[in-house]
Amino acid sequence: MRVTADIPVDGDALRSDLERTAQFGAIDCEDGIGRTVLPGTPANARARSYLVDRMVAAGLEVRVDAVGNIAGRWTPPSCDPDAAPVAAGSHLDSVPEGGIFDGPLGVYAALESVRAIAASDLAVDRPVEVVSFTGEEGTRFADGVLGSSVAAGNRSVDDALALSDGEVTLEAALDDIGFRGDGRFDASEWDAWLELHVEQSGTLERADCPVGVVDSITGTTRCRVTIEGEADHAGTTAMADRTDALAAASELVLALESAATEIAATDSESAVATVGSLSVEPGATNVVPGHAELSVDIRDVDPASIERLADTLEATLTDLREDRGVAVECERPYDIPPRPMADRVHGALRDATHRLDVAAPSLHSGAGHDTMEVADATDAGLLFARSRGGHSHSPLEHTDWRDCTLATRVLATALADLAGATGA
Ligand SMILES: [Zn+2]
Repeated sequence: MRVTADIPVDGDALRSDLERTAQFGAIDCEDGIGRTVLPGTPANARARSYLVDRMVAAGLEVRVDAVGNIAGRWTPPSCDPDAAPVAAGSHLDSVPEGGIFDGPLGVYAALESVRAIAASDLAVDRPVEVVSFTGEEGTRFADGVLGSSVAAGNRSVDDALALSDGEVTLEAALDDIGFRGDGRFDASEWDAWLELHVEQSGTLERADCPVGVVDSITGTTRCRVTIEGEADHAGTTAMADRTDALAAASELVLALESAATEIAATDSESAVATVGSLSVEPGATNVVPGHAELSVDIRDVDPASIERLADTLEATLTDLREDRGVAVECERPYDIPPRPMADRVHGALRDATHRLDVAAPSLHSGAGHDTMEVADATDAGLLFARSRGGHSHSPLEHTDWRDCTLATRVLATALADLAGATGA
């Protein structure tokens, strides 16, 4: 039976939790509200302790795993305590000088959903778990999605604990803040997973919709390219005698831009390719560049277009070697496939928007999230809430409080559905 009752989500309680969380690691800024909460820091400890207090106050049984992931389980009398739980959450860490919604919204929306379902007349069959993952942002210890990759079985506990920021290991940092627990949360033991996250771009705002249901998270491939030419005097080396590494690199940048534009216009509109960093040596006005290093970031929901762009990269490098006489090297250290969201979780979110009469387009996520790791282990779904001006990872990040409440109502309804809620 479908959930038909409107679950009494308390927008004020949600806002109060988010505003309180915003105080941990708060920074001074002229515009907006910002915070710096790197994993394993005192600010992170305060944010974690507050969450634990709020979970306990809501009647959840709290556990912390070996990599500092936090879970609060709600096991009401109506449910089978041994049934696989439905889990929802996000992360509490931030980028340096980040915003207050990215992460905490998903954690506290999940907690408010549980409080609201508990306050309703609904009876659920399955336990519900509220989760906060360690180190999603990748600004300390790892590239990102640290805790969720362990829960998904994509990284071992030992490997994670040994990660270092150059001074201390994750293990030591978690010990320091008193959040190194035991065991490993296993996402494959969850019946389903849901995350609410701010959109971090302007699609929903342009569509004038408060929420969107994500159908796929893009795959990401990153390459490191080195181009070796010959450094020479800029005044005395004739054009015909040069092997200019930067001029060669420029051809590569433009070839990738052109190929991605072409694919986006014809086959897959979510395809993107970016050269986001380029360094040149010796880097002097009067010297022909002898050495260039570039980073390439390729993303799409369609693995075929990622491969086409990677092929363009390879083919362009071959041409540059032959035509310009440069030496080239290309490494591909990072390859994350696209993750489509599970039909039944996507469907539960979609149904919830219909029942609440909320206009919600389907869209893809161009950014990685904990959900992309969890999707490897269980059925996963991702819901976006509109970001003002598309700002994110900045104190300007803002989601209207009414949108936060509405998105949480969608989350609570889908969560209740997946937990087998009946009644009312
Ligand atoms: Zn996030």
